[in-house]
Formats: sequence, structure tokens, C-alpha cells
Amino acid sequence: MKVVTRFAPSPTGHLHIGGGRTAIFCWLMARHYGGEFRLRIEDTDALRSKQEYTDSILASMKWLGLDWDGELTYQSRRLDVYNAAIDRLLETGHAYWCDCTPEEVEAMRAVARAKGEKPRYNGRCRDRGLSAGPGRVVRLRVPDEGVISFNDMVKGPVSVDVSELDDMVLRRTDGMPTYNMAVVVDDHDMGVTHVIRGDDHVSNTPKQILLYQALGFDVPVFGHVPMILGPDHQKLSKRHGARAVIEYEQDGLIPQALVNYLVRLGWSHGDQEIFSLRELVELFDGGSLNSAPAAFDPDKLKWLNAHYLRHTPLPELAAMTAPFVRKLGFEVSQEAVEKLLPMYVERASDLAALAQSLTVYFTPAEALVIEDKAMKALNEDGRQQLSILHGLLAALPEFTAEAIDRLLHDYVEQKGLKFKQVGPPLRSALIGLAGGPSVHDIMAALGREESLKRIRRAAA
Ligand code: GLU
Repeated sequence: MKVVTRFAPSPTGHLHIGGGRTAIFCWLMARHYGGEFRLRIEDTDALRSKQEYTDSILASMKWLGLDWDGELTYQSRRLDVYNAAIDRLLETGHAYWCDCTPEEVEAMRAVARAKGEKPRYNGRCRDRGLSAGPGRVVRLRVPDEGVISFNDMVKGPVSVDVSELDDMVLRRTDGMPTYNMAVVVDDHDMGVTHVIRGDDHVSNTPKQILLYQALGFDVPVFGHVPMILGPDHQKLSKRHGARAVIEYEQDGLIPQALVNYLVRLGWSHGDQEIFSLRELVELFDGGSLNSAPAAFDPDKLKWLNAHYLRHTPLPELAAMTAPFVRKLGFEVSQEAVEKLLPMYVERASDLAALAQSLTVYFTPAEALVIEDKAMKALNEDGRQQLSILHGLLAALPEFTAEAIDRLLHDYVEQKGLKFKQVGPPLRSALIGLAGGPSVHDIMAALGREESLKRIRRAAA
């Protein structure tokens, strides 16, 4: 049997990390079994669905590296298919027309509640033999007795007595299918074998199974993954990371770091923390999904991102970093960025911070701001050292990091100075900061002319 999974976002907002994680699980499982991963846009809610959100979700999927198979499916283009399925249910007696008003249904629910029962529609129109008409809905006729059971990939066996289930609406008064109706028809038509989704949908699953049975379709395997909690084990808040994937992209995360992080929030393989994509595909077979909700840990995400940053080949890292530098207002080439990266890659935890640390190299000497802490090194002695060093550096035959390093150490030794009498003033002059890479590396990166210009300016 070919494994087919799907991700079915509603375009009513950007892709959030919870949805992103579900999509990753579905994608991994399909890739693991050499099956198919399908993508469906659930846009039947015309008021809340927006094209910009569809575009944003697709962009986030691509950024995460989640490619999908076949055509993208839009529910809004399949209304005829859903209506044909509803007609079949009407013909086979599994569904019926109902003209109860929302107020009447609410009153039925209130009666049930008062009796201590589950609030439900009471089945008033079941046998009235109504046909289509304005203001009417189509409802599923739930069997009088029975138990719906399924073996959830995450939660294990789940059973619900049909007496718990309502004669749910399948087609609204405006002719639109309801979520449960459309999803079942789509998952069947797309050949989906495994439905992995958030556990906010677990109560829909018995209702959907009733629909599969009524339509004579094979029931897929279901897996409901628990939600992601905040670091405080409460509902994940915006402050604690309940954000859109696109926001993490803008913050300068490496997509592979976010994928690795999200997979581990809900799945494990021993105590391994770092997985290449290839390893994940090899290991993720849909088992070992945690049934307990995991808590979001921003520090761990940061740690993983720093790891991926250090392990990304420099040309690739430069391609990712350059747009962040440009966003800060500097027209730079990828090559120029790549040359600087070795000095900073060990220090940064995200692309935005990495880009920020490179800006001092692209700022013209006259515009370089020297931070207060760096000013201290530019006291009288510091400025005097700069004047002397300016002459020595100008005369250095070869302006390489090694040659500069040797020159500085020889100078310190001959004059009986401490290195901190030359290093800090040079760094302040060159990049305007009290901390940073070795001064010989900085100078080699800036080049002789620019280095001398900056030293002259600070010495004055
Ligand atoms: N469109 C639903 C949602 O975004 C997902 C439905 C499903 O996966 O069955 O919550």
C-alpha cells in the first residue's frame, strides 16, 4: 500500500509553528515510505480565507523545505464534488433535510443540558421527508446504536459511543459543505492513508468515521498530535513563541534548525537531538510520537540554530546572510559577506545578529560610530600607539592576517608593552566596538587602505 499523507491548512492566518510541525510530520512520513505528501487549502470559509495567507503558507512550506506532490487542492473549487456526495447520502438514507431554525436547535440543546445529557439536536426532522428548500440544511443520520473505535497513531485506542454524537450538519443553508463533510470527501479522493493533525480535531474523527462508513469509503489511519505548550506548560502565548513560521524566518533562523527543533517537540529517537533531514526521513516512520504535550524551549531553539549556523557551508551561509545585511541598508555582494563570515560564525546565534555584526565593515570610515565602551581605549596613550602603528602598517610589505599579527607582536615585544595597549585601541578604531575578532583578522578583512583610514581617524 502506498502511504499518502496530507496537510490541510485553512488560509485564515500565516502558518504557525504548530501547523508547521504537523506539516513536517506528514511530509516525513510520506518521504520515509516513498509515498506521497499532498497539500490542500481549506478555504471554504469565504469571509476569513485570504489569498495572501495561502501565499504566505506556501512560502513557509517552501522555506521549511516541504515539497508536496501533485496539484495543490483548493476546497473552494470542489463544491460540486461535495454536493454530489451529499446527494448520495440523501439517496441512501444516511442524511436528511432539516428546517429547524438555529433558535429551535439551541432550545433542543438547552433541554438536553437541563436533563444532564449531552447537548444535541434531537432528530426532529429525521423522518419528516423534507426536500431541498431555502433555509434548510442537510444532516447526517447517526446510527441509533454502536461504538466508533479507532487506533490513534499517537493516543492509542479511542472509542466513542454513537449516542455521544449529534446528527451533524453536512450542508449549510447557503449550500456550503461543512468542514467534516469536505474533509472526508477530499481525503478519500486524494487517496489519503494517514491523517496526522492537531489533537484539537480529535473530537471530529468519530464523526468523520461515520461519514466514511456512510459513503462506503475505507477509513484511513488517524494520528492526533498534542499541542505545543509554552515554557511554563500553559497554552503557548505569542510572547513564548506562538508565532508564525515566517516570523522565525525574519528573525534569522536557519530552516533546518526549526525543522529539527519542531520534530523533536513531539517525537524522539533515543536522546539524539541533532538530525539531518536525511536522517529524519530514514528514522521517522510515524511511530514514537509523544502523546504528552511538549513545552516550547526558546533557548534550545537558539542553541540548535547556532549549531546549524556553524555547520552550514560558507557560500550557502553567505547567500542566507546577505539579504539580512541588505535589509539593514547596505548594498553588499554575497562574496563580500562570505569573506567576513569566518570571523563571526562562532559568535552569532541567528542570521539577523550575524548580519548586524557585519555592518561595521560596510559602514564608511567617516560614518563609523565608536561605542562608549570602545572610546576608553582611545585615550592619549591609545591614540599615540595608533599613530605609530599607522606608520608601521603602511610600510608592511604584505597586508595579510599573519603578517599583521607578527608585526604587532614584534612591536609590543620591542617596546616592552602589553598587548592590551595596542589591541583595544586598534579594535575601537577599526570597528568602533570594545569586543570582537582579532585585530589582525579585522584588518586583513578591511584591507590596508580602509584600515589605515580608520586608524588615522581615531588617532586624530
Ligand atoms: N483545516 C484544518 C485546520 O487548519 C485542518 C483539518 C484537518 O487536518 O483535517 O485546522
